[in-house]
Amino acid sequence: MKNDPRSHGLWERSAPQAPPTTRLSGDLTADVVVIGAGFTGLSAALHLAEAGASVVVLEGIQIGFGGSGRNVGLVNAGMWVMPDDLPGELGEVYGNRLLHLLGDAPSLVFELVEKHAIACEIERSGTLHCAVGAKGLAELQERARQWQARGAPVHLLNTEETAHKVGTSSYSGSLLDLRAGTIQPLGYSRGLAGAAIKAGARIFTSSPVVDAEEADGGWRVRTHSGSVWAKWVIVATNAYTTHVWPQIRAELVHLPYFNLATKPLSDNLRNTILPERQGVWDTNEILSSYRFDQQGRLVFGSVGALRGLGQSIHPNWGRRALRKLFPQLADIAFEYEWYGSIGMTSNNLPRFHRLARNVVSFSGYNGRGIAPGTTFGRILARLVLGDIQEADLPLPMTEPEPVRYRAVKEAYYEVGAQIAHAATARF
Ligand SMILES: Cc1cc2nc3c(=O)[nH]c(=O)nc-3n(C[C@H](O)[C@H](O)[C@H](O)COP(=O)(O)OP(=O)(O)OC[C@H]3O[C@@H](n4cnc5c(N)ncnc54)[C@H](O)[C@@H]3O)c2cc1C
Repeated sequence: MKNDPRSHGLWERSAPQAPPTTRLSGDLTADVVVIGAGFTGLSAALHLAEAGASVVVLEGIQIGFGGSGRNVGLVNAGMWVMPDDLPGELGEVYGNRLLHLLGDAPSLVFELVEKHAIACEIERSGTLHCAVGAKGLAELQERARQWQARGAPVHLLNTEETAHKVGTSSYSGSLLDLRAGTIQPLGYSRGLAGAAIKAGARIFTSSPVVDAEEADGGWRVRTHSGSVWAKWVIVATNAYTTHVWPQIRAELVHLPYFNLATKPLSDNLRNTILPERQGVWDTNEILSSYRFDQQGRLVFGSVGALRGLGQSIHPNWGRRALRKLFPQLADIAFEYEWYGSIGMTSNNLPRFHRLARNVVSFSGYNGRGIAPGTTFGRILARLVLGDIQEADLPLPMTEPEPVRYRAVKEAYYEVGAQIAHAATARF
C-alpha cells in the first residue's frame, strides 16, 4: 500500500481484491461514524449495519492499512497476561469477564469467516506456543495449569511431541491451543469490509478524519473533502491513530514487528515442517513466530523494523535462525518482507475509553488484535445500540494516560532488536 512493498508484503499480493470504495465527498448523515477500517472498526460497522443502524466508516488510507492488514495472522485466545493475573489486575468482575470473552474470541472470527464466506486462508488446527529452555517450559506449564483449571482445550506437549508437530527438536515443550488458528489477515479485513457493505454500511477510504466537533446533539467529523454528522463516534484508530483523538496514540508504545515470507516450499520440504499447519510463536523475550500461507510459503517473523540498519540485520538474522531451526531450508530465499507497529500498553492489557460524550473506543491490544479487535468491535456496536451498558463491558472505562518517554522506549525496542539480531541467532 502507498507503493511500499514493506507495508503489507505477501498479504497484499495474495489477498482477494478489496471491495470498491471511494474518497468521501460532500456531507452525509448517519447514526454512527466509525473512524478506522481495521478489525475493530469493521467489526463494529458490520454488527451495527446488521442491526439496522446507518453507519459510515472513514478510513484514512485503505482497508486494513494498520495492524489489521500486516500482522502474522495468529488468531489467539486470551492475552499475554497469565489468566490468573487478570482478576488481580482488573478486579474479579472485569478480570473474569475479559478472560471468558477473550478465551472464546477466536470462535467469533471463525464464525464470521464462515457466515460471510470470507476468503482468508483459514486454518483451524490451533497454535503452538513453543518453550525455549527450562524457563520457557516452566512458563508454559503454569499457563497450561491456569487455562486447564478453567476448562480450556490447551495441551502441554513434551519435547518429542513438540518435535513431531513442529519438525524441530529446538524446543523443550509447547502449549497446543485448540481454540486458535491462523488467517490471511488482509484477506480477513477486506472480507469484513465486504460483509459490512453488503449489510448496508458505507465505507470511504483515502478519507482521514482531520477534525471533529460536537454539533446538534451529535458529532460532525470532517475529512479534507467532506463531513459526516452522526450521533455516535467509534474511534477505531488504535496504534495507527493520526489527527483526531491523539491521546490514543500517546498511550501506546510502538513495538516494531517484521515478517519474512519464503518462496513456496516443495511438497517434500513442506511435509517436514508443521505438517498439521499450526501457527507458532516462542517464549523468547525477543520472540519469533512462523506459520504457513496457503501456497506453502513459511512466514517467519520477529521484533524489529525493516528500515535503516534493520533492512539488512533482520533478514540476515532470519536466514540464520531459520537454518538453525530447519537446516533443510538453508538455501531458501525470502520473497517478501514487511513490518508494522504493535501498540503496547503499560500493563499489556487493552483499554476502553469514552473520549467524549458519545465517543467510544477500544485500543491497545499488545499484538493480540485479531480475535479481540473483532470481539471488541461487536461490543462497541452493542454499546452504541443500547443493547449493553458501560457497566457490562469487559474492561473498566479509563482515561487515556500518555506514556512517559514514549519516543525513547520506541527507539529502545527498535535498536535493541537490531543489536540482539545482529549478535546471534538466539536459539
Ligand atoms: C506486525 C504485526 C504483527 C501482529 N501479529 C498479530 C497476530 O499474529 N495476532 C493477533 O491477534 N494480532 C497481531 N497483531 C496485532 C493486530 O494486528 C492489531 O492489534 C489489530 O490489527 C488492531 O486492529 P484495529 O482495527 O484496532 O487497528 P488497525 O488495524 O491498526 O486500524 C486502525 C485504522 O485506523 C486508520 N486511521 C488512523 N487515523 C485515522 C484518521 N484520523 N481517520 C481515518 N482513519 C484513521 C488507520 O489508517 C488504520 O487503517 C500484530 C500487529 C502487527 C503490526
